[in-house]
Amino acid sequence: MNTNPPLDQFSQDAGAYVLGALSVQERHQFELHLRGCPRCAQSVRDLAGLPGLLATVPEAVAEAGPAGPAPDTLLPALIRQVRRGQRRRRWLTAAAAAAAAAVLSVGGLTLAGGPPSGSTDALPPSVTTGTTPAHSTQARSMTVLAPTGLRASLSVQDVAWGSRLELRCTYPTSADMIPPASSVGEQPEYQPPEYQLMLRSTTGRTQRLATWRAVPGKTITITGATSWTRADIADMQVQTTSGQPLLGLTG
Ligand SMILES: [Zn+2]
Repeated sequence: MNTNPPLDQFSQDAGAYVLGALSVQERHQFELHLRGCPRCAQSVRDLAGLPGLLATVPEAVAEAGPAGPAPDTLLPALIRQVRRGQRRRRWLTAAAAAAAAAVLSVGGLTLAGGPPSGSTDALPPSVTTGTTPAHSTQARSMTVLAPTGLRASLSVQDVAWGSRLELRCTYPTSADMIPPASSVGEQPEYQPPEYQLMLRSTTGRTQRLATWRAVPGKTITITGATSWTRADIADMQVQTTSGQPLLGLTG
C-alpha cells in the first residue's frame, strides 16, 4: 500500500539542506529522517551537485540575484523546494537561479577538441555532407537559414523534468569570417560572433536557452535544458544575439 507514498513533511527540505540553508535543529531532524526515507534521500542525491555548480559562479554573479527571465525555466523543482517563507531561503532561490543561468550560458560550452586532421585551414565546401559523426541517434542537421558557414546538429532528449538539448556547432575558420590579412592594419580588431539558441513552443512562447561565442575553426558542443517537453517545442533556431536566424530545425 506504500509503493508511492505521499510527500511527507520533509519532502520540501532537500534543496535547502543541500544548500546549507537549514537551521542546526532542522538539519539534524532532516538527517534523522533521511535514514528512513528513500524518497527524500533520492532528492538529496539528485541535488547534490548544486553547491559545486554554485561554487563555479563568480560571487558577484550569485549576489546579483535573478536579472533575467531564466528562473521560470531552470531548476523548477529546486526553486519550489527552496521557495519557503524564510528570507534566507528566498535569497538562496535567487542565487540558485542566477547561478544556474550562468552555468548554462557559460559553463555549458565545452570545446570538443577533436583530433587534428592536418587540414584545419579549410572546411568542406558543402553544408549537406553528413560526415560528422553524431553523438546521439536523435541528432539532426539544422537547416541553413543564412549563409554564414556555421553548421550545426541538434538532439533533443525527453527527460523527467523537460528536455535536454545538445547542439554541436562547427565554425568556419576566422580567415573565412574576416577580410584577407594584407589589409589587417586597417581592420578593427576581430571579434568572434555571438549566438543564441532560441526555442518556440507550439503555443507561440519563446525561450532563450543559451548564448555563446564562436570559436573559429572548431566544433563545440553546447548543452541546454528546458522545462518544455519535445512535444511542446515547435521549432528551434540558432540566431545572432540581435535575433537574425542562422540555422533552424522544427521540433
Ligand atoms: Zn521523506
